[in-house]
Amino acid sequence: MLSAVRLSISLPLALAFGASGAVAQSVNHAADVSRILASPAFKAAAAQLDREHGRIVDEGIKLTEIPAPPFKEEARAREFQKMLQAAGLPDAKIDEEGNVLALRKGTHGDGKVVVVSAHLDTVFPAATDVKVKHQGSKLYAPGVGDDTMSLSVLLAFVRAMQSANIKTRDDILFVATVGEEGPGDLRGVRHLFTKGQYKNKIKSFFSIESGGVDSITNGGVGSKRYRVTFNGPGGHSFGAFGLVNPMFALGQAASEFSRIQVAASPKTTYSIGVIGGGTSVNSIPLSGWMEVDMRSESMPDLKRVEDRMLKIMQEAAEGENFARSTKEGKITAEAKLIGDRPAGTTDVKTDLAQFAKAAVEAGGYKVSYRWSSTDSNLPMSLGIPALTIGRSAPDRSGRSHSLDEWIDVEKEPMVKAVTTSLSIVLAATGME
Ligand SMILES: [Zn+2]
Repeated sequence: MLSAVRLSISLPLALAFGASGAVAQSVNHAADVSRILASPAFKAAAAQLDREHGRIVDEGIKLTEIPAPPFKEEARAREFQKMLQAAGLPDAKIDEEGNVLALRKGTHGDGKVVVVSAHLDTVFPAATDVKVKHQGSKLYAPGVGDDTMSLSVLLAFVRAMQSANIKTRDDILFVATVGEEGPGDLRGVRHLFTKGQYKNKIKSFFSIESGGVDSITNGGVGSKRYRVTFNGPGGHSFGAFGLVNPMFALGQAASEFSRIQVAASPKTTYSIGVIGGGTSVNSIPLSGWMEVDMRSESMPDLKRVEDRMLKIMQEAAEGENFARSTKEGKITAEAKLIGDRPAGTTDVKTDLAQFAKAAVEAGGYKVSYRWSSTDSNLPMSLGIPALTIGRSAPDRSGRSHSLDEWIDVEKEPMVKAVTTSLSIVLAATGME
């Protein structure tokens, strides 16, 4: 009833001042954040995060030591589901794709949800040693920062909100996603937005990642990845000399690809990451392949590089067929799409970004905005406000995607950052 009254007052105002102007002035993000930070409930939640620092670290270590390579997140997902249930959301479940989901109801009940997520998967293959090593307040292990400690922080958020009896206007859907890293190609978040039970019900999205809480990712770098294979008839290196050779075509293609001109802004990049193939040193090979990665802040620029790359591959095959004998067969080039991440942005003027900025500043940090490739790409590409936010103090993590990945869990800066991260979520979901 109250909202109906409010609507009847604000509508004429909106009409009088122009809809967007009136809406922008109706929310004072900084004032709202101050109100939340000063509330007894938030102070109780912050005090609990402080008391629970050791537990957050321990649970992060426990989860880090359960391997979660791409497509093999299941064991970690099951453990996280149990922990989420124990944290106060007994209905936590695993969806068809492997994501862990748990809904915390809000007071408003408009049927829409705000997602607060972190990703389960790491880039590391199954046999990687994931035992956590301690050095002072630093923890070393593959995946410890990206993104496993964020899973533990999600649990701490839930426990803090439950014990302080925090009420939010919006329903919050806590999610641990699968498939955020390269080969997973955002399969978890893609399922969430295009197939799962909450598709069309998500109004905004947070991904919590390992970086500093001062850094807000509001741009999603799009990428396309291909495996290009050159096939040919093969033969003996001496006896069949003169036949077309797929490796020569591949080499020519790589060289041409390296010369594509791209804009510095919007930043557009390309690389060959892996190359392979061949039969033996004394054979003209049957095939050779390479995996290429192209990225851009702009979808049209990405498409231009992609089209050029595909043309170069065909031309290289044709060039080799022209240069040498095709009497035993021709070289063919086959390009297979192995990665497709859409690009997108969340405007810094959206309420979501304004709340995040106000909360980060209230925490005493200086905000910076950046582009990256994360789970937020998917909602951004659909026009749904999404941000990837941090949960650690600035410069307290490093070497992610490497075997000597580390994070610093020193209590005071970590608790302050985690508390700020929680304040972003609570401001954006309308803590009462
Ligand atoms: Zn990550």
